[in-house]
Amino acid sequence: MERDTSHLQDPAIVWFRNDLRIGDNEALVAASQHCAVVPVYIWQTVGTGRALGAARQWWLHHSLASLSNDLERLGAPLVLLSGNPSDLIFDLIKTTGASAVYWNRGYNPAYLEADSALKAELQAQGLIAESFAGQLLHEPTKLCTGSGTPYKVYSPFWRALEPDVEDRLPRQAPESLTPIPGSSTLPSETLETWRLLPTKPDWSGGMAGSWTPGEAGAHDRLADFLEDRMQGYTDRRDIPGVDATSGLSPHLASGEITPAQIFEALKNTETDGAPADRTKFRKEIGWREFAWHLLANNPALPEKNHNSKFDNFPWLNDSRALKAWQKGLTGYPVVDAGMRQLWQTGWMHNRVRMIVASFLTKHLLIDWRTGEDWFWDTLVDADPASNAASWQWVAGSGADAAPYFRIFNPVLQGERFDAEGDYVRRFVPELAQMPKKFIHKPWAAPEPVLATANVRLGDTYPHPIVDHKLARDRALAAYQQIKEVA
Ligand code: FAD
Repeated sequence: MERDTSHLQDPAIVWFRNDLRIGDNEALVAASQHCAVVPVYIWQTVGTGRALGAARQWWLHHSLASLSNDLERLGAPLVLLSGNPSDLIFDLIKTTGASAVYWNRGYNPAYLEADSALKAELQAQGLIAESFAGQLLHEPTKLCTGSGTPYKVYSPFWRALEPDVEDRLPRQAPESLTPIPGSSTLPSETLETWRLLPTKPDWSGGMAGSWTPGEAGAHDRLADFLEDRMQGYTDRRDIPGVDATSGLSPHLASGEITPAQIFEALKNTETDGAPADRTKFRKEIGWREFAWHLLANNPALPEKNHNSKFDNFPWLNDSRALKAWQKGLTGYPVVDAGMRQLWQTGWMHNRVRMIVASFLTKHLLIDWRTGEDWFWDTLVDADPASNAASWQWVAGSGADAAPYFRIFNPVLQGERFDAEGDYVRRFVPELAQMPKKFIHKPWAAPEPVLATANVRLGDTYPHPIVDHKLARDRALAAYQQIKEVA
């Protein structure tokens, strides 16, 4: 039987969401088969879901500007609207005569119900409403263990998923798009009116100097990584003082590049990198898949302990310690360097994320949700799945989590992973002159050493806000309480 293609005679709407790209975009490819395409992005001011944090709003502004340029170049300008997606999409159908709406699945449980309702409503009116995969390498609610349950442990999850991944070829971007007649007169808002950029003060200078939001920036970063940093990734990825990782996380978080595109580039690029480096890098992307698998199957992951034993954990409400952590003034140099890297650039090295998260939840006994929230607001790669899953992993309350009693010693972590102190010197300039021997424990330095390094503890740099040994004992005692209850 011949497929009915009469709907292709009408325009199609492609609803951009967390997929700000034209390459490997199934929804855009589907829409491009129609006689005309109406691309729209909706700044959702109504409905469920957590508002984007400030750093991601900065990113969104620039990423949308880049997408808008790319779509303009292809022929169909991006329409910007704000409000309730469902109402706005029906209005746009009326104005444009579209018969179909396509979008890529975001997998964020916060939006699932509204998306399904919208799809059903559109279909009930005889319209085509279709969503596509692309943001992930797997469908998180479909992949399951032999006993039919979602995975809870990373290694078997990745073993099950990895063999399939090779078959997923990214889709080519359309070479051009046909706009609807009079497309430039369609009502559209401007990015400026959404006020996504910080003013008074504008704290985004460090982020602008570190990142190029948008699809082109994502592909440039991938190419640079494959050429310059892939080799040795396995050994160097844990050293925060060197630029050794891909830095693709904010681009992935905004859907400017897909994991399938990254895997394809890994296959196609003749790098000098050992196969082990490629395998390791793919595994890291696998952690992102695992985090989404956990979130899709546990929608409360950002709010609720995965392990309910932690519901009785005696967290402290210590606003002074929290402020010191947020500002990078704890007196532990590697922790402070991480928190300042985050504040300045909107990103923090993975090893240091683990150190600062451990410090907050174990040394300061502050609830992981408080830390997750701070990261949510300040990270350009803030992602509901990876952020929540990682915080729970460090806190000990998560699936396949690090055991609570494994408490990082921030001095030893610093000495091991930032042996020369380069990372600390870069982000904690008041310690720049400290010799290597004391860079991670300035309080242990003799007075003449401090004087030569121009460090006055308690004045130019704080004393440690907690003593490591006492804090460790306190954390273990707190953990003992919930262990005994269980
Ligand atoms: P690379 O080493 O180049 O890795 C490539 C990609 O693999 C990353 O871009 C990322 O998509 C994925 N990846 C790597 N490590 C992890 C990991 N442990 N978990 C999940 N995905 C991973 N990552 C986010 O993308 N968003 C977050 O909000 C986030 N919050 C975190 C909070 C805490 C407390 C911790 C410990 C980790 C968090 N991570 C988060 C994971 C990780 O730190 C970042 O993905 C990584 O540092 C990004 O840098 P990169 O792109 O250079 O990584």
